[in-house]
Amino acid sequence: MSELTRLSATEARQLLDSKAITSVELTEAHLERIAEVDERVHGYLHVMTDVAREQAQRADNAIQSGQAAGLTGIPVALKDILCTVDAPTTAASHILENYVSPYDATVVKKLREQNAVFLGKANTDEFAMGSSTENSAFGTTRNPWDLNRVPGGSSGGSAATVAAHEAMLSLGSDTGGSIRQPAGFCGVVGLKPTYGRVSRFGLIAFASSLDQIGPFSRTVHDAALMLNTVAGHDPRDSTSINTEVPDYTASLGYDLTGKRIGIAREYTIEGLEAGVSAAFDAAVKVLRDLGAELVDVSLPHTEYALATYYITAPAEASANLARFDGIKYGNRKEEATLQETYLRTRGEGFGPEVKRRIMLGTYALSSGYYDAYYVKAQKVRTLIKRDFDQAFEKVDAIVAPTSPTVAFPIGSRTDDPYQMYLADVFTIPANMAGIPGISIPGGLSDGLPVGLQLLGKAFDEATLLSIAHAYEQATDWHAREPARLS
Ligand code: GLN
Repeated sequence: MSELTRLSATEARQLLDSKAITSVELTEAHLERIAEVDERVHGYLHVMTDVAREQAQRADNAIQSGQAAGLTGIPVALKDILCTVDAPTTAASHILENYVSPYDATVVKKLREQNAVFLGKANTDEFAMGSSTENSAFGTTRNPWDLNRVPGGSSGGSAATVAAHEAMLSLGSDTGGSIRQPAGFCGVVGLKPTYGRVSRFGLIAFASSLDQIGPFSRTVHDAALMLNTVAGHDPRDSTSINTEVPDYTASLGYDLTGKRIGIAREYTIEGLEAGVSAAFDAAVKVLRDLGAELVDVSLPHTEYALATYYITAPAEASANLARFDGIKYGNRKEEATLQETYLRTRGEGFGPEVKRRIMLGTYALSSGYYDAYYVKAQKVRTLIKRDFDQAFEKVDAIVAPTSPTVAFPIGSRTDDPYQMYLADVFTIPANMAGIPGISIPGGLSDGLPVGLQLLGKAFDEATLLSIAHAYEQATDWHAREPARLS
């Protein structure tokens, strides 16, 4: 593997600016790496070779003329649920196979304006519904640490491409854990910002009250760089918040003296793998040694989070996915009547998990059940948020494992949706409460990465990044590489 693909984005930024390397060289090194390993990893659904080459050239010109900004010339991957005008956006679904959006997502536009380089569109579970990428209509992504295991999901391609050095950075989306859980499984950094921090315009909607876009990277500093670029208010997303965006890199480099970090007893459930538990205990010790004060907190409604999510998210999905009818978007299976056209288009276009969600959601929203399910879930959601509000009166952040297990073998959970849903038991509460969360490399268990999760107050990504950075600097988990692919 070329040394250029080993660089962090932060290192590459310096080398580009000092003209020691060019974006063209950096981009070619990544395209070579993709050619070398992606047949095995299958992190990409679509490699944007021509676009990337053109953007790299443009980036070099911008750097030459002194116009470099945050991610100018840095090669990135985009989850294939973010709209791009110059590549298909499929949401890993047959219904959108070959679909090209007439506009860019706001995050894509922001990257383009900085002359970042788009390597391609990364694999995902269909419409971001899943925890393993096994629900992609176009094949499962494999975990670079063990090709027989899942990379997590739904943003499995975004995590795997960064872990396998096939991209320097990537963007994913997190509705119930889809950034943090694959980051944990693939041994990289994944940040879900506060709901409203990053514009969702041009993100194909799954559950609109939960979805957030965020970065994957191999270092915390790189995640801060990406967040700097994509965060901010957007008039095209009415839920994006108009507050000041700090320079996230400025919050790095501090020690943890005086920081209060909560440990929630509800996050040490039965089913937590021994190796994950051991890594978590060791990580807590590191935080304590760095000067943090560890405080017990309680999040008593945690046990209802999963059930609440699986009413709320499918309910919203059933409404959001109504637009895929073969008339306005994507593939159409023409039949004699409109009704039959709908039935065949949706029947053949959607995969089984998407259909399951649409049915669950439609049921939860139907007259007679609406109050019992949907309204009740909204009330429980308020209680979950209140738990966090109370905890954050006492602490600056909460530390927890990202997932109860390490990456599981491909095929081991596909027959049991409930087992699959359990993979998100520690990540879902943050989405229900709208708060930010980050997963960073926090140890190994039997040679597989364990994610360490930090949850923070709304709009306080800076504190999360600061704690994550201190932990990263004191450990070397982030520097480990998946050996089998090198
Ligand atoms: N795995 C969860 C689900 O299947 C979360 C997915 C996500 O965050 N997009 O819904």
